[in-house]
Amino acid sequence: MPKNNFRLSFEFFPPRTDAGKEKLVRTRDVLATFKPEFFSMTYGAGGSTRDATLQLVVDFNQAGISTAPHLSFGSDNEDAIKAMLDQYKASGVNRIVALRGDVPSGSGSKSDIVYASELVRFIRKHYGEHFHIEVAAYPEIHPEARSYQDDLFYFGRKVEAGANSAITQYFYNPDAYYYFVDQCHGHGIDIPIYPGIMPILNVDNLKRFSANCGAEIPRWLVKRLDSYANDPDSLRVFSEDVVTELCETLMQDDGVPGLHFYTMNQAEPVARIIQNLGLD
Ligand code: FAD
Repeated sequence: MPKNNFRLSFEFFPPRTDAGKEKLVRTRDVLATFKPEFFSMTYGAGGSTRDATLQLVVDFNQAGISTAPHLSFGSDNEDAIKAMLDQYKASGVNRIVALRGDVPSGSGSKSDIVYASELVRFIRKHYGEHFHIEVAAYPEIHPEARSYQDDLFYFGRKVEAGANSAITQYFYNPDAYYYFVDQCHGHGIDIPIYPGIMPILNVDNLKRFSANCGAEIPRWLVKRLDSYANDPDSLRVFSEDVVTELCETLMQDDGVPGLHFYTMNQAEPVARIIQNLGLD
């Protein structure tokens, strides 16, 4: 049984086409029935979806749907980021997912990268406590981190800079999450850390993405997923069961403060998992 203040949130990405945007509004409206605390909208690597993210977040908030933009400096300067934050504030946005952001492919240089902790500090400096700031956390460790301890240290920096809570990279091994949270507590980091939950929609894409972002798909799971290669209906049922069981494990004994779903802009798989969990 989840706690009363159990938090649900759903992540979207900005669609490229008008049809995609119409579908996103339908997805949003289905998922809104589960009363999430907020939706969030990703920000393309290096700011590549700057205008699309801004427009969707402003539109959704003006329609009364609490939606948090993901934000990174990308190649923007402080004035441009401040102008965007001003617009968000004026549109009623009160939550930001603050990131360093992915480095756009082909952009070679990493010299201008602004770490997430610096963006958090920038937001706090200019907007005080107006925004609730979410940051990213990596139970299986960020792929560029030099070591586990290093990544934990820099995660702590984001908290010192003023982050209120964190959303994790997805994982399929709950022990990685528990260990990470324990390590955080051991280092005096006690903000809520919300597990990011990735439904399994397309196995090839998931494998490719996981290899890049450092999320491990356990061998037993890869083998089972592969065995359903020619049976999409069974694959769907199996995948939803696996992700439901992961969530159930995380929710045992008041284990997690909430769940954040990477929806991939699709309502049904997430809706079925939420129904399986009795969170509807
Ligand atoms: P940081 O916290 O800045 O850390 C990045 C790396 O640098 C880590 O290895 C860290 O250990 C290290 N580090 C941090 N500070 C320092 C320092 N001062 N000196 C040296 N090393 C340091 N990407 C997008 O492009 N758009 C999105 O919308 C998006 N949304 C996401 C949402 C969630 C919930 C998550 C978990 C990730 C998301 N990402 C997104 C991916 C994220 O941008 C990448 O993982 C990126 O590579 C790191 O971003 P970060 O904010 O975690 O970086």
